[in-house]
Amino acid sequence: MPKKVETIVLHDSSTPVIGGTERGGNVIVTSLETLVNQARANSLWPLTFGLACCAIEMMSTVAARFDLARFGSEAFRATPRQADVMIIAGRLSKKMAPVLRQIYDQMPEPKWVISMGACASTGGVYNNYAIVQGTDQVVPVDIYVPGCPPSPDALIYGVLKLQAKIKRGGAKTLSELKLIEIQPRTLETVEA
Ligand code: SF4
Repeated sequence: MPKKVETIVLHDSSTPVIGGTERGGNVIVTSLETLVNQARANSLWPLTFGLACCAIEMMSTVAARFDLARFGSEAFRATPRQADVMIIAGRLSKKMAPVLRQIYDQMPEPKWVISMGACASTGGVYNNYAIVQGTDQVVPVDIYVPGCPPSPDALIYGVLKLQAKIKRGGAKTLSELKLIEIQPRTLETVEA
């Protein structure tokens, strides 16, 4: 019975493309979930949402000098319903906390949160009655970016870390990722 083998070739950039072994690289077979996670990670749409001075640095990441578009995340959305990553940029006041939570709840699943800066992550220098001492008291945080303010480079590094987390899914090892590498000789045997 003829067998059809779909192959995926990894380039140096590790971007999967459909092709054959003659185009070079290794052949892998993987799960649909892993492929979907790759797509999700490389097209994160952040929410347009800034709380304080850190937001200025966040805006800089999409300007020409730092250009977050290189990593597929330049499309800041003005509505939570079109965004999948919330960057909490700045101190969160207790008055603002319910609003932040409501906006988070309006984002569709799957969604992620980056806590940007000392104030968002711990309250920073604002150890007082008005500021939430860590936004993880209000929403689940995936990535913490340290600094006051963190540079645009630091935020981009945080985005890359989030991408890696999404691509990994719940897996901790390559075998858990369900990436099965096939050598050309094995492939010939399967096709035969
Ligand atoms: S961490 Fe620093 S720059 Fe960011 S909101 Fe707080 S005081 Fe402003």
